[in-house]
Amino acid sequence: MTATVHGFQTQVTKLLDLLANSLYSNKEVFLRELISNASDAIDKLHFMSLTNPDLIKDDPNFKIQIKADKDAKTLTITDNGIGMTLDEANSHLGTIAESGTEAFMKNLTGDAKRDSQLIGQFGVGFYSSFIVADKVTVISRSVNASEAEGVRWESEGNGTFTSENVAVPFRGTQIILHIKDSETEFLDTWKLRDCITKYSDHISTPVELYEEKYEPAPEAKEGETPKEPEKKFEYTQVNNAQALWTRAPKDIKDEEYNEFYKHLSHDYQDPLAHAHNKVEGDLEYTSLLYIPKQAPWDLYNRQTEHGLKLYVQRVFIMDKAEAFLPNYLRFVKGLVDTNALPLNVSRELLQETAVTRKLKKALTKRVLSMIGNLAKDKDKYTEFYKQFGNVLKEGPVEDYDNKDAILKLLRFASTNNSGSDLSVSFDDYISRMKEGQDKIYYITAESYEAALNSPYLENLKSKGIEVLLMWERIDEWLMGNITEYAGKQFVSANSQDLQLGKLAGEEEKKQQETVASENKDLVERFKKTLGDKVKDVVVSTRLVDSPSCVISDASRMMTMQMRRLLEASGQKLPDEKYTLELNPTHKLVQKAFAQTDDAKFAQYAQLIYEQALLADQGALKDPSSFVKAMNALLTE
Ligand code: ADP
Ligand code: MG
Repeated sequence: MTATVHGFQTQVTKLLDLLANSLYSNKEVFLRELISNASDAIDKLHFMSLTNPDLIKDDPNFKIQIKADKDAKTLTITDNGIGMTLDEANSHLGTIAESGTEAFMKNLTGDAKRDSQLIGQFGVGFYSSFIVADKVTVISRSVNASEAEGVRWESEGNGTFTSENVAVPFRGTQIILHIKDSETEFLDTWKLRDCITKYSDHISTPVELYEEKYEPAPEAKEGETPKEPEKKFEYTQVNNAQALWTRAPKDIKDEEYNEFYKHLSHDYQDPLAHAHNKVEGDLEYTSLLYIPKQAPWDLYNRQTEHGLKLYVQRVFIMDKAEAFLPNYLRFVKGLVDTNALPLNVSRELLQETAVTRKLKKALTKRVLSMIGNLAKDKDKYTEFYKQFGNVLKEGPVEDYDNKDAILKLLRFASTNNSGSDLSVSFDDYISRMKEGQDKIYYITAESYEAALNSPYLENLKSKGIEVLLMWERIDEWLMGNITEYAGKQFVSANSQDLQLGKLAGEEEKKQQETVASENKDLVERFKKTLGDKVKDVVVSTRLVDSPSCVISDASRMMTMQMRRLLEASGQKLPDEKYTLELNPTHKLVQKAFAQTDDAKFAQYAQLIYEQALLADQGALKDPSSFVKAMNALLTE
């Protein structure tokens, strides 16, 4: 059979071009990727062999072997894992499926220098071979295939690859790298030993390097010239092949945790934090959890699989087991190893067992306390919060049991701060509450600026009451679903009844009543003129600098933000009518009221009403009519 020529998926070609031309500074990572793939392939077969031991009876000892040939200039990485069929090789080595790579491609700018830095942030897996090789040959045989159904795949990394069935006498995969002339240091055993130790010490499969074994030369007899020692090569195990998480945490260095994270998560960056725990007692388990530095691009994609790696008695069972953590912690990577589940546990079974529920509860607590620890370091927490703050906000609603613990971790901007940074916790807020204040005031708007400058805040600001400023879409939803924290009720500054309570003061209340009765005529005139455009017109108790604002019916619980959210999702909503609040001390309102000509007054009324709508919603249904009215009055 002759080999078939295939074109790579377009993204792969782009990626390969970039790899070939990049000034990639950390070339040796190709070895980590290939060892990682070999180890994954062995884990998969190990798992299958639990129920079908015959699969490995010919070659039962799992191992990864690495051999350099200086004459042929090849570096060969061999594993006796699950192997690939021809179809699998064509699709797995010809397309990019892994999410990280997908994200990488999206982030490419075309600027070679920037792009090559980006490689450092995303995994490119198998294709990293082309950093050091100008040709890669893959020989493989799937565990399910006969000798004749072996595969030979080859590419020079230039847009095409060839593949064909060939006879392969062994199970597993052999990656043969034809090393570039500029990269021959990767043919030196000392260099290889160095890299292997660095990247594979934590891998539970033995990694063996083909090395020269020193044999002393036979003693020379009297009068004879001493003989050159004979050169002998053999495979020697380089890594200690003990799964990292089974070792005592105190003996593990941070770098080891970080390297293991990269193997486990296919992330190229170090994690932000890790937690390694061995728990004894009625439910024995070990967990190793990581918080990544960067959110994956598909964090909000419902279809994306996520979850921990599951091991039972140190045997890899499954990837992305989502049953161990709630959805709002889906960014956490890591593994759990327990003796309390059967080796043949299925995904379905996992969902239902009490062991899973107990583990989920414990692991959730652990992650929340990890995040709590991060919060002690302000800079680190800011870094974390930028990436994952909005996901965390799903928590108080999804996980009622941990509601308060999660709320404690949330951060917001506030009128107390001079910038938009998210640094104020509910606890901070409570510690600064005014005497007599028993509510937590917040406002949701389109942006930080809109929140900060909202007319709804004027009265609260004038009283020196802090207001939390929120502008993320999820904030509206979150605040609509929780009512209190630490016994303090949340009150939206947008709501009609601001519930100032004791803060308003008796005198102020009386004054408001007086103001209302004094301005009866004003209110009536606006009402008559605006007609059914508005729901009602009232005299405001909160406006200080602005002439007017609009409020939606608090009892309907649908604030403007929520409306926009629903409209954006394609729902048709009936037009909502608002109550117009007037500030009778404002010059514009007074000027309007002074108009004796009703037509003129109507223009003022329209302007005062529509500018309130505009301030609140950032847009008007009929902006040109607004502009017309405004120009008419300006050019008077
Ligand atoms: P990833 O490991 O993130 O899936 P890679 O680019 O490293 O991405 O590998 C692509 C795919 O090729 C793997 O998912 C696997 O299916 C297949 N593969 C790579 N190396 C091996 C191997 N040594 N044995 C079996 N399959 C492999
Ligand atoms: Mg890989």
